[in-house]
Parts: sequence; C-alpha cells; structure tokens
Amino acid sequence: MTQQDSPCAARPKTIDDMPVVDAHTHVFCWGENPAEGFLSQRTRRKWTTRLVMALTGIRSEEGETLTAKMRNRLLRHVRSSRLDYAVVLAQDAVYRPDGTRDDPATHFYVSNDYVLELARESPRIIPGCSINPHRGDALHELERCRDAGCRLVKVHTAIQGVDPSLEKFEPFYRLAAELGVVLTFHTGFEHSCRVISQQFTDPLLLARPLEAGVTVIAAHCGTCAFFDREDYYPRFVEMMCRYNNLYGDTAIMATLVRWRSLGRLAREDERLRERIVHGSDYPFPPSRLAFARRVGLFPPERRNPLDLDLRIKESFAFGPRYADRLLQLLGRSA
Ligand SMILES: [Zn+2]
Repeated sequence: MTQQDSPCAARPKTIDDMPVVDAHTHVFCWGENPAEGFLSQRTRRKWTTRLVMALTGIRSEEGETLTAKMRNRLLRHVRSSRLDYAVVLAQDAVYRPDGTRDDPATHFYVSNDYVLELARESPRIIPGCSINPHRGDALHELERCRDAGCRLVKVHTAIQGVDPSLEKFEPFYRLAAELGVVLTFHTGFEHSCRVISQQFTDPLLLARPLEAGVTVIAAHCGTCAFFDREDYYPRFVEMMCRYNNLYGDTAIMATLVRWRSLGRLAREDERLRERIVHGSDYPFPPSRLAFARRVGLFPPERRNPLDLDLRIKESFAFGPRYADRLLQLLGRSA
C-alpha cells in the first residue's frame, strides 16, 4: 500500500473527525472484455452516455482502452479526494423468467468479480456487488459475494426488471438479513439506461425486504427529475416513517435535474434525516451552478467531482454522522 493509497493518510476530515464514505459510485466497462462488463451498442450511442463521457473528459485519461481509462479516472479521483472509502457498485444483468441470463436484453453490465478485484487493488474501495434476484443462482451468488467480503448488494429495480415486492424473492431477502448484507434498491425514475419498468422504482414496493428484516437503502430517496410525470419522494417519506430499517442515499441529488431534492430532504424531521446516507452517483457530475449560493461559483473542490458532491451535500443539515453512516450499517469502523 502506498502512502497515497493508505486510508490513514493525513487529509482534512468532516466535523468531529469522522471518516467520510461515499455509498454509491459506479464504474463502467466499455466491453473490450464482456466477461468483466459491457455497455450495449444502444447504451453507448445514448445521448446521456455521450454527454457524461464528454463532461468527464474520459478520452484524455490515462489507459489503453476506454475501460482502463474509466477505471483509472475513478481510482485517481478516490485517491485524491477527502473520502476514506467509496462503495463501487457492480451491475447485474437482466434475467429471463426461468432464471437464465439474458445478454441481448442487458444494456449495462459490470461483473461482481470486477468490483471485488478493484477493492483488492485499493483499500479505499468497498465492493458493492449486484445481484438480480430473478437469477437462478441468486442465493448462491449472495453467499459467494458475502464470503468475498461484500456487505452491500445493489438491486437495480428499473434496469434489471425487478419488482421488489414479489413473494418469490422472500428466500433471497431472508438470506440477506441472515448474512447481514445491506440491500440497496434503485428508487425513483431512471434516465441513464433503457429500463424495463419505471413502476418498479416505487418505494412502496420495498415493504417485503423490510418486513424480512433486511437493512435497506433506497437509492436516490425515491426522487424523480422535474420533468417526470411521477414523484415517488412522498412515498419514500411514508416508508421512512413506517420502517426504522429503511435508509436513503443522496446519489444524483446534486445534479441540475433534481436540484430541489436536497432542500426538500433537509427540511424533513430529524428522525428521518438521521437515516440519510451520503452517496454521489459518480461519475455523473454534480452541478455547482445549481448550488452556487451555497458553495460559491469556484469552490476549491471543483477539481474533484467526489469532493464537490460531498461539499454540496454537507451544506445541508443531514447531521454529523451523514458521511460515515454507511460504515455503521456495514458493521465496520474506519
Ligand atoms: Zn447510481
């Protein structure tokens, strides 16, 4: 481990000197080696993909392939940021009703082994595996990932076609609770990739895993963009009032299309705010223009999107444990 890589390296901390954790970041694989991950032709051509690639300046990053460039950019930003840890999420495929993998219907895939390997390479990276509970070997994969050191698993309701309320997922949820694995579910409308159903992102559908005793994080707190015809945020609030084992992360909420969502969340009751977890949704960049009154037009953190996102969110009142809450949920200390 180099001095730069060490989580103990001296750098500024948040109030109370708490560790700083980002619970929601992504790495993408272009598809040079599809076994480790890929974006479908359709996703590669999508305007949002091209916009993110242009905004992140990915082509000028070091690396032989686009996949290597994306990986290097992530590692460079995590290393130079204020973060002690970042959860890097895998993205499971779409599965057919018989439990077999459906590659032609999969538009965004990152294998669990890819993020487990990243975590072995960098001590600041926490692996966030992804398991589609429709897969035939979902229970086995959950145990395998847990044995490999993973304590947080992501289910992408909209892209992976998962209605979390299905009774057939009961054994998966019970096993997650038994193994102490936190499940992060995507909530709120999805725009970056082709979806199977936006309706699956409704926070009310999370009752089944919550009743099974799983610690659940509703990614994005059910928020939708200002142009969406639904707003699932009130349902997220309703579920937070009903279940103490439900949390919400702030991923994507510092972008222009959801710029009102952080203010709305910060006005909630303290009992709700103390279950909000920091997450950026890197590499989707935060908007400093939308928050210029809070962080200024040229904040020093602007050179690192992970730091800028954290700075914006720390300007809201989510409490002193906001940035290290995830470690408590994962049962680990810094
Ligand atoms: Zn995300």
